[in-house]
Amino acid sequence: MKHLIDIKSLTNDEILEITELAHYYEEHVPKGTQKKKKAGSTALLFFENSTRTRFSFEMASKKLGFSAFNFDAQKSSILKGEGFFDTLNNLNAIGCDIAIIRHSKEGFIEELSKKEYDWGLSLVNAGEGQSSHPTQALLDFYTLQKHLKTVEGKKITIVGDIIHSRVAKSNIELLTRFGAHVVCCSPSYFEDWTLTNAKYEPVLKDALNDADAVMGLRIQKERIETRVPYAQYIEDYQIKESNLPKKAILMHPGPVNRDVEIEGALLDSNRGKIITEQARNGVFVRMAVLDLIYEGTKR
Ligand code: ASP
Repeated sequence: MKHLIDIKSLTNDEILEITELAHYYEEHVPKGTQKKKKAGSTALLFFENSTRTRFSFEMASKKLGFSAFNFDAQKSSILKGEGFFDTLNNLNAIGCDIAIIRHSKEGFIEELSKKEYDWGLSLVNAGEGQSSHPTQALLDFYTLQKHLKTVEGKKITIVGDIIHSRVAKSNIELLTRFGAHVVCCSPSYFEDWTLTNAKYEPVLKDALNDADAVMGLRIQKERIETRVPYAQYIEDYQIKESNLPKKAILMHPGPVNRDVEIEGALLDSNRGKIITEQARNGVFVRMAVLDLIYEGTKR
């Protein structure tokens, strides 16, 4: 693996290799018995807001022994007019091994990876516009496997702003490849009919019925120009203790808008705990991704 572009660019074997290595790190990091520390470096270039993903990649880098450099777009030469590609070219020359990029432009990482330059630099997609967020889908898969053993044959319901969610898209791609039945549930203004791998079920009660896992999504305010009818949305689509099936595990990529997509009391209950476990699992999954890329491409 030279780059992590999206889920599509990974084989099922590579996905399983990532989750197996993540499991190794989950077992060994807390005991301090992981493999020898690595001497590489990562650069974190985030052009959209982030808390979990950015900290998680930084934490993963440091736990592996990498030096992690944070790029501040507001203080960088991009504001002096330098193009992003030229910035990366210089980070490569300076000796960065892996550039971890979050950007609003869809297809950007793939476009960069196709440029014919003699780079040692690897590129990792840390969230791209509305289209993909591969490490979130990998950590969700890892979390689901831990709780459900396998996703094969399991009903996984994704509720909320499907059309603007890169998390939903990467998850649908990954989970259906491993045999999950993914059901999407949203009001019509959040539907995405291009996602043909998933079944669409507009009524929350039916979508939740018999689900093994329920994934809430944040309404992506920053990508929506029209007014969202919040009160109606909450009435029809909020996930609550009273509508969440007893056997279902509750997930959310975060950040959660408390009392919008998920009832606050449910978040604070035991059933809300898997959401913070997802954030914790993200560190091990990202360690695995960075490790596999670094070991595969060491200069
Ligand atoms: N943190 C996730 C993302 O970056 C989900 C969200 O922002 O709602 O896509």
